[in-house]
Amino acid sequence: MKNKEFETKAIRHQVERTQQKEHSVPIFATSSYLFENAEHARALFAKEAEGNVYSRYSNPNNDEFIDKLCLLEGAEAGISTASGMAAMFVSIASFLKQGDHIVACRSVFGSTHQILTQLLPRWGITHTYVDVHDLDGWEKAVTSNTKMFFFETPSNPALDLIDIEKVSSIAKKHGILVNVDNCFATPYLQNPIRSGADIVTHSATKFIDGQGRMLGGAILGRKELIDEVMFMSRHTGPAMSPFNGWVLSKSLETLAVRMDRHCSNALELAIFLSAHNQVKLVKYPFLESHPQHDLAKKQMKQGGGIVTFEVAGGLDQGRRFLDFLEMLSLSANLGDTRSIATHPASTTHSKLSEEERLSVGITSGLVRISTGLENIKDIIEDVNQALNRSKS
Ligand SMILES: *Cc1c(COP(=O)(O)O)cnc(C)c1O
Repeated sequence: MKNKEFETKAIRHQVERTQQKEHSVPIFATSSYLFENAEHARALFAKEAEGNVYSRYSNPNNDEFIDKLCLLEGAEAGISTASGMAAMFVSIASFLKQGDHIVACRSVFGSTHQILTQLLPRWGITHTYVDVHDLDGWEKAVTSNTKMFFFETPSNPALDLIDIEKVSSIAKKHGILVNVDNCFATPYLQNPIRSGADIVTHSATKFIDGQGRMLGGAILGRKELIDEVMFMSRHTGPAMSPFNGWVLSKSLETLAVRMDRHCSNALELAIFLSAHNQVKLVKYPFLESHPQHDLAKKQMKQGGGIVTFEVAGGLDQGRRFLDFLEMLSLSANLGDTRSIATHPASTTHSKLSEEERLSVGITSGLVRISTGLENIKDIIEDVNQALNRSKS
């Protein structure tokens, strides 16, 4: 399967058929697996034989999902988790111990920020934040205890980019692991491991599921690194449910066609917004006006499904805009078939101080749209009428 194209891998990688010769893979709803005899049980536990023992360790549906994701990301090995946050936490906790230090981009997902600032310090693990545009900041932040660089690109919700190749080469010099949350781009648009990252983490809840149905996560990397993650995961239990593994593996079959449409809808919406007189600033990686447009073209295949913009009249007009939307959903989720509008300052990023928000590019009038798969004419029509009515 390795030499096939993205779509083919995503559709044709399957676990072995059972004796029923089913075409679509069944759901292996089982907590444990039978041993052939006492010797087989001993060999499995001694890791002298390969096979399933217990679904906290492995399950055919979860394995199909994760093996396929590895093929798509260009990773040697991986582990699926019950949610994106389980993936973030386990991918960090597997490699850091008391006294260690992590350098992270300031604009990380809200719960990742809580892990770094509230939870890790309980175990004596410290962090330093680097601003998204401060490439030199990564090297400056390195101490003798730094074990990991962690970042997201494009960032949420400001859509700033980090040069994966450059940050990875700084890390390499110092023997530091690079962990990239690739949730916004998906493996279809960007492959951090191919650009030098060591670990890729995903919230499969977003574009990978793509229909707002369930939670899931993944951690991918070299076999020796994933063995460490497996040790942590086996014994702490963030395992994915087999049902979720089954759905998410099916979801990967359609990721490429869905992402093509998410991206073309988002680009069209971004172009429309750029010309609207009630809009101040539009950010979209594949718009030429994006300050890092060249980098976007270098490390992403297309611009992604998210567009952010600032409504001309700031906070009050931004709120009115959301209330006047008739079709778009108001929700904190993203990566759904349905277009979703979010006001980050009052919801997803409300735990940050005003100063912290501004430092990651979240002004009070900033609106984030996760562009769905509805017909783009209807998306633009709804956004247009809400913008026009929001004018005071
Ligand atoms: C949603 C999200 C997460 C968390 O994933 P869950 O599946 O909700 O736990 C992590 N990182 C990014 C960038 C996200 O958008």
